Amino acid sequence: MPIRERSTRWVLFTSMVVASTVTGCVSLETAETIPPPAFYARHNPNKRPPLSTSKSYTRKRPIIQPSRPIGPARHHEEWLPVGRRISPRWTTIVLHHSATQRGGAKSFDKFHREARGWDELGYHFVIGNGTDTRDGLVEVGSRWQKQKTGAHCKTAGNYHNKHGIGICLVGDFTKSKPTPKQLASLSELLRFLCAESGISANMITSHGLVDPKTRCPGKHFPMLSIRKSVLPRVATLSQP
Ligand SMILES: [Zn+2]
Repeated sequence: MPIRERSTRWVLFTSMVVASTVTGCVSLETAETIPPPAFYARHNPNKRPPLSTSKSYTRKRPIIQPSRPIGPARHHEEWLPVGRRISPRWTTIVLHHSATQRGGAKSFDKFHREARGWDELGYHFVIGNGTDTRDGLVEVGSRWQKQKTGAHCKTAGNYHNKHGIGICLVGDFTKSKPTPKQLASLSELLRFLCAESGISANMITSHGLVDPKTRCPGKHFPMLSIRKSVLPRVATLSQP
């Protein structure tokens, strides 16, 4: 091959490598296969997965990396327990629907006390659908203020009540989808909780996934896309 042609090919190859570095890799993976996010680095920098290395460019499988730093989850003072730290007990987040067309923290609290005989609202957060409360409004339950175990997901050893943050979206998602504003608020709340509590985004689950006796939060609840919406942003918390 003539030197000039070889040199042109080399320049082309180098440009492609540089371009892929700048724009980032295209993810072909689903949220279920994306490796655990790296935000543990905030607590343990030595366990952070390695960032891009020269080997990355020669691998055939795409490397899962944020294409650019997006920044940490937005801070929401109103979602923090007043006068307390977030308890280290939380290891998972359990998503629910209310299985009702309307409602809010106040009416669910009344129902849980009067019909179920519980001491207070079973969930930690409720996200409104525009009926009793504003569409997408995040209501903080009294349990979260006290950092008290939940009453929303009975499983073996009561694990998901003891260690799971319970979030309920108002609506019956066996019949219809959550509103776009509910999903946007949920995504924002999940990013916040993962960042503040150190829970891995892979530990976000739903009631029905851990308790086969229920279909909560319904077939129209977009579990996969919600998890995907949380993963990339949480992962960027490890970026320097
Ligand atoms: Zn449920």
